[in-house]
Amino acid sequence: MQDDVKRTAISISIFGETAVGKTCICSTFLGLEFREEHLTTVGIEKMSSTIVTESGEELKLKLWDTAGQERFKSVSVKNLRYSQAAVVVFDLTVKETFNKVTDWLKEIRDYSPKMPVGLFGNKSDLVEERQVKQEDIDDLCKREDLEYFETSARNNTGIKEGFAKIASMAFKSLGTLPTKGQKLNNKKKKKKSKC
Ligand code: GDP
Ligand code: MG
Repeated sequence: MQDDVKRTAISISIFGETAVGKTCICSTFLGLEFREEHLTTVGIEKMSSTIVTESGEELKLKLWDTAGQERFKSVSVKNLRYSQAAVVVFDLTVKETFNKVTDWLKEIRDYSPKMPVGLFGNKSDLVEERQVKQEDIDDLCKREDLEYFETSARNNTGIKEGFAKIASMAFKSLGTLPTKGQKLNNKKKKKKSKC
C-alpha cells in the first residue's frame, strides 16, 4: 500500500471496435492466459500493474478495458476523464476496424485534445490474413500524430513496449493534462499549509 503512494499512477483507456483484441491485450499484459474465445466486455473493466519506462520511471499502470459496441461508446469515451492516455486498437486482419480508427480518435480528441494516443495494430501473428497496408498505417500515424505498435496478444509481442511508451509520454505530459488522476496524485503529495 505504501509502495503505491510512491508510484505515479497512469490510467490508459483502451478503445477500438469489437473483437479487435482489447481484452486479450490487457490480459496478456497482466500475464494472464490468452483466450481463444471472444467474451463480450460490458461497459468498462479496470486492471492494474506496474511498469518501468525506458527512462526508468516506475509507474502504476491502470488499464481501462472498454466495450467497442456503439451502445457503450459514450460510456467508454466519458471514461477518459479518469485517464492520462488512450490506446486505439485495430485488427490487422479486418480493414474495417482500421477505417474506424479515425472515428475513435475524433471522440478522444473532442474530449481531451492533448492526450497522448497510441495505436495498436493487433493480431500480427496472422501474417497470411493481413488486410491493412503498412503505408496506410504510416500515413495515419503521421497525420494524426500517433505512436504505432504492432501487437499480438496471442504471442505477447509489442504490448509491453507499447504501454511503456504511452505511459511514459503520459507521465511527461502530466503537468499539462488537467485530469482527475493528476489531481489525485497531487493531493497525495500535498502538505498541509500552515496559513
Ligand atoms: P475485444 O472485443 O476487442 O475485447 O476482443 P477480445 O480480446 O475479446 O478478442 C476477440 C477475439 O480475437 C478472441 O477470439 C481472441 O482470441 C482473438 N484475438 C485477440 N487477440 C489476438 C491476437 O493477437 N491474435 C489472434 N490470432 N487472435 C487474437
Ligand atoms: Mg473486450
